[in-house]
Amino acid sequence: MTPSALRCAACGNRTRFDVYETVRRRRFAHYTLGGDVTVEEEEILDHAVERVVCRWCERSDAIEAEPGEAEPIDAGSDETEPGEPEPDDSG
Ligand SMILES: [Zn+2]
Repeated sequence: MTPSALRCAACGNRTRFDVYETVRRRRFAHYTLGGDVTVEEEEILDHAVERVVCRWCERSDAIEAEPGEAEPIDAGSDETEPGEPEPDDSG
């Protein structure tokens, strides 16, 4: 999956990137006997982003995915919820 938003940590660019990706796709190619072809259906079978390069500073090692709707990569927190202390019911 391509992140919904990217950011270059080196220069702050958030809008211009070269995305190098491999896509496997199925196309329903509808040929006519005259030699024309129309793609009537397309399905992405596999999709992998190999590299993202910043268009401004041309670095590929400083690209960060902006925290958004996507799930965070680092999900190693314990399930501890801050709860209110129970009231002392004596008296
Ligand atoms: Zn940059």
